Amino acid sequence: MNVVLLGIQGSGKGTQAELLSQKYKLPHINVGDSLRENIQNQTELGKIAKSYIDKGELVPDEYVFAIVEDVLNKAEKGFFLDGFPRNLEQAKFLLSKFKIDKFLLLELDEETAIKRILARRQCKKCKKVYNILFQKPEVENVCDICGGELILREDDNKQAIKKRIEKFHHETEKVIKLFKEQSNFITINAAQSLLAINKEIISKIN
Ligand SMILES: [Zn+2]
Repeated sequence: MNVVLLGIQGSGKGTQAELLSQKYKLPHINVGDSLRENIQNQTELGKIAKSYIDKGELVPDEYVFAIVEDVLNKAEKGFFLDGFPRNLEQAKFLLSKFKIDKFLLLELDEETAIKRILARRQCKKCKKVYNILFQKPEVENVCDICGGELILREDDNKQAIKKRIEKFHHETEKVIKLFKEQSNFITINAAQSLLAINKEIISKIN
């Protein structure tokens, strides 16, 4: 089962990909994480990617594609892919290389998305992410796992969020349009609780 999750920031697609990964025992693949792993492990691709990042440039698509192809090929039984594709070229690449069984779009209005992102807090030490709306820590501003201080990430300010949302509308909506032409495109209401979203997804992909 090869599944792609799409949605605006704050729609919870990363969290849902994780829950689905646990339920179906298939890997949750986040391309940003795969890129960071390659850099950390100093693979050939990781070294090339790092040379661009060090210059403050975006990693060119051909290297990102090579990383995606590598990590998806290793997931022989299937995957839950999140954070890719973000633009039309990436979407076309994905469709040319892999058979996708389900496209899941987590639909959420902008206002709710912004509210949710502004409620995110991250542990300074272990980087675990909380949300003061629906994933509160036991003690206010303290990490449940390591006791570290919880902070609002620098890139989670209103201006930066609006910029990311604009980019999403500009680029990812073309991806959504392309995927909507496929018969296995499913829309999910992401304005519900995490568990309700999860239930809806499971009922629709089975
Ligand atoms: Zn922590």
